[in-house]
Amino acid sequence: MSDDPDVGGEPELVVRCAECGNTYPAQRGDDGGFRPIGTAAGTCSCGSSEFEQV
Ligand SMILES: [Zn+2]
Repeated sequence: MSDDPDVGGEPELVVRCAECGNTYPAQRGDDGGFRPIGTAAGTCSCGSSEFEQV
């Protein structure tokens, strides 16, 4: 009913930035990587795009 595919949907897991340690709710991407929710272009605020699951 309230699906909003452009915004990323429900977070499935939590990831931590490999560089600065910030954590984000995230989804698993189609390529098997992580897609943090609420960040620009799927990168951390520090600019890193490497995340590990918490
Ligand atoms: Zn970071």
